[in-house]
Amino acid sequence: MTDQMMDKDDPGVGKVYLVGAGPGDPGLMTVKGKTLLEHADVVIYDALVSESILAAINPLAERINAGKRRGNHSLLQSETTALLITKAREHAVVVRLKGGDPFVFGRGGEEMVDLIQAGISVEIVPGITAGVAAPAYAGIPITHRDYGSSVTFVTGHEHAGKYQPQVNWQAIAQSSDTIVVYMGIHNLAHILEALQAGGKPSDTPIALIRWGTCPNQSELVGTFATILSQMEQVGFEAPAIAVIGNVVNLHGLLAHGSPSMLQVMRSD
Ligand code: SAH
Repeated sequence: MTDQMMDKDDPGVGKVYLVGAGPGDPGLMTVKGKTLLEHADVVIYDALVSESILAAINPLAERINAGKRRGNHSLLQSETTALLITKAREHAVVVRLKGGDPFVFGRGGEEMVDLIQAGISVEIVPGITAGVAAPAYAGIPITHRDYGSSVTFVTGHEHAGKYQPQVNWQAIAQSSDTIVVYMGIHNLAHILEALQAGGKPSDTPIALIRWGTCPNQSELVGTFATILSQMEQVGFEAPAIAVIGNVVNLHGLLAHGSPSMLQVMRSD
């Protein structure tokens, strides 16, 4: 930890580090992020951050779970921001730990704006986003010269009951070879319908990856025509990433040798 990181010249005025925890496997967290956890005074973390990552936190640090899971808000966004401001005024190193990358569907940008407006120093420490890592661990490269030259990251989250798409699925269907959907499991039927209206054929390959890079990672691979009934059959649930496009065809080939490799490579 450097003096600069600790803000030692300015006692009483702390800094918030907006840190990406990566997708789950603790070996995929950045060295910078882990060092900050080890030196933190306070860590405020979200629900999708795995236990094996929380294990790296300085044992003397205060830990606060701001976890947000669907239908189970432990802290409102405004409460989380207020808490970060209070803690930064009391402590030198405040870590705001978020799953994946804070700036990819993680509200990191929103929190950073609020903190800067409150006069708090903030630094971003990126993480590996689930939309890249979960497909990778499932043997799906999101680009490949023969299967996909463009990729779109998109949120599938809409309010339950009143589906009002904010995303132009038709345009995405027409312009992107690979589509990576975050938070899309609950609305998958609507999303597939919209993508087909945009021109994706019903035999378009799709893979769902749940708890990607974690020891309990599971995958479901099919096509637009089959995936919904496959999900029903096995009771597939969120949180999961959906990967759509011809790159999914590589799953059969590349996932083949992966599991034993991952056993060795995983650091938990
Ligand atoms: N900032 C995070 C995304 C937060 S949105 C990131 O960069 O990864 C939450 C959504 O991310 C979940 O609904 C799910 O779609 C996806 N997600 C996060 N972690 C995941 C994991 N380990 N495996 C599969 N999907 C994951």
